[in-house]
Amino acid sequence: MDRDFVYYEFTNSLCNECLKVIPAKIIFRDNKVYLLKYCQKHGEQLELLEHDIEYFKNKRIYDKAGTITKTQTEVKKGCPYDCGLCPNHDQHSCINILEITNRCNMCCNTCYANSGKGKDLDLKKIKEMIDFGAECENGRGEVLQISGGEPSIHPEIIKIIQYAREKYQYVMLNTNGIRIAEDEDFVKELSEFKGGFEIYLQFDSFKDEVYEKIRGRKLVDIKKKAVHNLEKYNIPITLVMTIERDINDKELGKIISYGLETKCIRGVNIQPVAYFGRKNGNLDRSNRVTLTNVINLIEEQTKKMIIKEDFAPLPCNVERVALTYLYNTKNGFLPITRLDNIKKYLPYVNNTFTFKIEDALTNGKDIIFGSCCNPLKFLKDFKKFVPRDFMKWDLEKRSKYVSENTFRISITSFVDRYNFDIKSMQKECAHIITTDLKRIPFSSYNMIYRSKYHDS
Ligand code: SF4
Ligand code: SF4
Ligand SMILES: [Zn+2]
Repeated sequence: MDRDFVYYEFTNSLCNECLKVIPAKIIFRDNKVYLLKYCQKHGEQLELLEHDIEYFKNKRIYDKAGTITKTQTEVKKGCPYDCGLCPNHDQHSCINILEITNRCNMCCNTCYANSGKGKDLDLKKIKEMIDFGAECENGRGEVLQISGGEPSIHPEIIKIIQYAREKYQYVMLNTNGIRIAEDEDFVKELSEFKGGFEIYLQFDSFKDEVYEKIRGRKLVDIKKKAVHNLEKYNIPITLVMTIERDINDKELGKIISYGLETKCIRGVNIQPVAYFGRKNGNLDRSNRVTLTNVINLIEEQTKKMIIKEDFAPLPCNVERVALTYLYNTKNGFLPITRLDNIKKYLPYVNNTFTFKIEDALTNGKDIIFGSCCNPLKFLKDFKKFVPRDFMKWDLEKRSKYVSENTFRISITSFVDRYNFDIKSMQKECAHIITTDLKRIPFSSYNMIYRSKYHDS
């Protein structure tokens, strides 16, 4: 008799119960990818890792060397207990996350920050953390997400964004949208940040019953009002959708269409729900949403307007980030992969989460592409999708045109104690800046370290 699975490779994982580092097999079974772990104390554990074996195998083609960065800790106990960053970490900060408050004007049961009551960090501390993050990246950081809690209710939020803009190339405000919907003067102030700034708007559904279930209150009107206000002042938006089985997994297509139809919405980021924070392990994970599951659902729900092959793993973290671009044509939006083989350029993209076609197109410089790529060839290929005199326009006009005519769909899947595999952990490129000036990968922070910092 044969086993009912194929043993693909070997990794380290964590025990679901005791969080000890334990060995795990990555196996293929029933057309899916699983982790088969064994803890001496808590026995065998089987956890779903991905829904698509083909994608899982092929993603490695896009893998490339990580970017060296400064470290703050030493290797002592082994990953993930040395964060961070320790010298074992294999990727620099494509994104830094700064939690400026743990107060929130909502109390979601999916909140990994366990936010609600709490306090704000003061401006001096925040500046120190921003300086530190930028310093770790040779003086200027790539992306800073200002988060919380709900960062928009911090009394000094405008000053904080102002300061962050000086130290980072790109700043995002991660918000539930309530203040944006209710306080137009605030939106007006935000509109002063032209360029290098966007709203990262939590947007899970078009149904109030979904919001009531996962966020504890009706929110559809608030979300729409927030988008309306941001459009009025021309502030770019990325919608962020936390996706969960049988809650909102059927709404992907609708949210993508809404994004495409709404001028200020420049993209959607989809995050399969991770099992940390208030969302702990009592739920059925046997059919949890995975990155490749999202890709398949998008194919289904956009009626093949976007297909599986349009997605590529992002080279900075091929394990847990995938993306595609759509481009506006006479016949509506089309995935760029349909027009040209963009995938052939991906191996040459620098280690950055903010790989932006608009940057490559508008600047015509190799700020995005490493020396091994030929940016001119890239531009030539993409020129067929822009107006003929495009390259003669000034930078602002080009930039505006490209950002209004491209749409980015990205999928980010985080590492929790159940789907932990060591490579995904060590490649994670979104790092929280802590008050004691460390950088801790988002996933390990939520799995292990948050309780240490939360009330301090
Ligand atoms: S997650 Fe990264 S920083 Fe943390 S212990 Fe592992 S390698 Fe080190
Ligand atoms: S998920 Fe966001 S909006 Fe909800 S409680 Fe947490 S911080 Fe607040
Ligand atoms: Zn155990």
